[in-house]
Amino acid sequence: MPAIARVEPLTTARALRGPFDYRLPPALAETPVGGLLAVPFAGRELLAVVVERATSSEVPAERLAEPHHAVEPAIPAELVELARWIAAEYCSTVSRALQLVLPPGAGRAVRPRVRARSVLVAEITGGGRAALGARDGASADDAPSGASSAGPRVRLTEGQRALLERLAAAGPLPAAATGMEHGGLRRLAGRDLIVLEAREQRRQPLVHAVGARAAHAPPLTDEQRAALVPILDTLAGAADAGSGDSAARRFLLHGVTGSGKTEVYLQAAAAALAAGDSVLVLVPEIALAPQTVARFQARFGDTVAVLHSQLGQGERYDEWLRLQRGEARIAVGPRSAVFAPLSRLGLVIVDEEHESAYKHEGDPRYDARRVAARRAQQTGAVLVMGSATPRPESVHALQRIRITQRVDGRPLPPVEVLDMRDARHPLHPTTREALGDVRRAGRKAIVLVNRRGWSNFLSCRACGNVWKCPQCDVALVLHQRDGTLACHHCGHGERIPATCTACGSSSVARHGAGTERIETELLEALGDPEFPVLRLDADTARGGKGAVARVLERFDAAGAGVLVGTQMVAKGHDFPDVTLGVVLDADQTLRFPDFRAEERTFALVAQLAGRAGRGGEGSGRVLVQTLSPDAPSIAAAARHDADGFLTGELERRRALSYPPFASLIRVTCSAEQATDATAAAQAVRERISAAGATVLGPAPLFRLRGRERSQLVVKATQRRAAVASVAAAVDAVARTSAGRRVQLSADVDPQ
Ligand SMILES: [Zn+2]
Ligand SMILES: [Zn+2]
Repeated sequence: MPAIARVEPLTTARALRGPFDYRLPPALAETPVGGLLAVPFAGRELLAVVVERATSSEVPAERLAEPHHAVEPAIPAELVELARWIAAEYCSTVSRALQLVLPPGAGRAVRPRVRARSVLVAEITGGGRAALGARDGASADDAPSGASSAGPRVRLTEGQRALLERLAAAGPLPAAATGMEHGGLRRLAGRDLIVLEAREQRRQPLVHAVGARAAHAPPLTDEQRAALVPILDTLAGAADAGSGDSAARRFLLHGVTGSGKTEVYLQAAAAALAAGDSVLVLVPEIALAPQTVARFQARFGDTVAVLHSQLGQGERYDEWLRLQRGEARIAVGPRSAVFAPLSRLGLVIVDEEHESAYKHEGDPRYDARRVAARRAQQTGAVLVMGSATPRPESVHALQRIRITQRVDGRPLPPVEVLDMRDARHPLHPTTREALGDVRRAGRKAIVLVNRRGWSNFLSCRACGNVWKCPQCDVALVLHQRDGTLACHHCGHGERIPATCTACGSSSVARHGAGTERIETELLEALGDPEFPVLRLDADTARGGKGAVARVLERFDAAGAGVLVGTQMVAKGHDFPDVTLGVVLDADQTLRFPDFRAEERTFALVAQLAGRAGRGGEGSGRVLVQTLSPDAPSIAAAARHDADGFLTGELERRRALSYPPFASLIRVTCSAEQATDATAAAQAVRERISAAGATVLGPAPLFRLRGRERSQLVVKATQRRAAVASVAAAVDAVARTSAGRRVQLSADVDPQ
């Protein structure tokens, strides 16, 4: 029987749909599912993944082509299955989904660009030890008769003897560290006194450890202990239960900020490891969660592998390999770490599950939270998602475990809502006063501004002209320090105008305040060497590898000061001595036409409130400046009323058929001409036919990067059928002659 591999060639072409059959020659006959092969395809050589094995094909065996060679390492079969699921779930192709699960650096090249790094290592042999021993103790002359088999006396130079002694004492050394020339080492190896061989050397990533705590487990609060019980019980039962009811193994750890969720994760992970299982830990962004990563490393040491994009490719490859070989059994990383090659997965943790960073914006547009849940289900692992501000979707779908108190027993700080409707200055008088108090007391404050740059937009006072991006129909944002107006969508930049380009007037108004302007205001009002003002936003992050971590470290190390920035300042890190938190323009998120606007606004205020008044003596204080003081999300956040907010939000979503009561799929058509984009959207709409699916649109979207856009939104109660119907409609329209002028993309669960 011929050995046949069904393979998916790795290509980005949507039209090409595998799998394709290849006959495996004897040398490759054992290639498993997940094996990578270089195959001849349409006159080229492509990298392909084995997705199935077979013993027969519709094509006669003698007419099947053979792969050229195998490419190491292979992908675990479980990840091949996961990729096929992603392709179907997110309107993509198997080929594109498989590219997510490849080893780092594999790209689509048939020759791997990244390999394990090896160094030449010298190690002493038994013969080498005997040669040393021959002089020190029993030389051949002293040996009792009959022991002449000890062999001839070994002659060594001073240098050779010194090296052998060093190797005997210190163990194997890299050849470069021996201080001996290659020729000399080879001569010793030729006499069997040492072995000289290439061995793998791991490239170890450097992780910034902001405020890492001790390695030992602290005592738990009663609530933490109670939270662990169902998780540990389920972990213990998971082995017996096999792949039973997966809903019973999915938990939402809903704990206020500072309630010690990470310690619950750590103890659950310890239990999974003790049972011989591996653990997957997802965090929204490594740079913003250095403490979580550091705590896992402090507790579990080298069995933790960190996977993220800021690692060099070699480092990432080595971490991947350690997981694949089982040398590391805890994988920690952002959304792409959901594809870590772990076997015997027992526990999946998704920290800060409300963060939209879990959604991938390239094709396939997967949501790592959903993929994590699928992986857990596939392997029978226990799933724990955690947040202080969980999504209504998770509250609806998972078993909720509450932690209502902070570890330190302190109450959440009081929140004051400041009405900005009559304000003339971006900082309310109460805010200015409170910041002055913090400075006088030598404490710290965090100020959240939901917009980077200097001001929101510029307009002409004479004719009303607003400066817009020539590529995208959005207002340009003023960046005073660079002297530019910048587009936050496409990166377009131009000089700040002195006069209006439309009417020539020199009266130009600046509206709104971004991080840069607030930073300047604060520097002028408060800043001095004793009270630094630090800024953290996407512009900081562009400062290169580690720029965000450096700002966080400086703020952590400073005795007092202000951290001003975008939403980044309200994320994972935990600064114990912050006594004041301020949110400026809290309702900015509410002005987006998005069903998640309320959820986002609540999360923003609640997350920042959670950063204040932790640990330091004296109570914390939170100020929320807003133009909509009565908005339900802001009022609920000010009362710390997560349950009330979630109940109301779920009712609203049910009434409007939004997730979790329906799935959303967004189809975007972009083209040079608006008419082409709209026509394509209309054509897709006409082809969507799935029970329980309502299609809204086509509706125009703002022009982006010079392309006109039109979109459809599908609300579906039967998710699988709707996704399949949308995928078929998009593919069909893409193949029409009009469709070739249009770029189509389908986004399931858009954020
Ligand atoms: Zn003008
Ligand atoms: Zn633009």
